[in-house]
Amino acid sequence: MPIYEYHCNNCNMDFEQLVFSSSQADNVPCTECGSSNVERKVSSIASAGTASGSTGGASSHSGCGSSGFG
Ligand SMILES: [Zn+2]
Repeated sequence: MPIYEYHCNNCNMDFEQLVFSSSQADNVPCTECGSSNVERKVSSIASAGTASGSTGGASSHSGCGSSGFG
């Protein structure tokens, strides 16, 4: 489970928050004052070698070939 570091602009408090989803990482209140005016810092424990999404999907779809049937 990734732990992100945050910095609160309201009370200038640095804290860490355990985040389960990426969407949650953008909505983390300050643990000190509860303010939402926080910014996520670049964590040094970022996972290296993340699986980047492959581009394109050239999946050949065969079909539509009826000949001499029936
Ligand atoms: Zn705060």
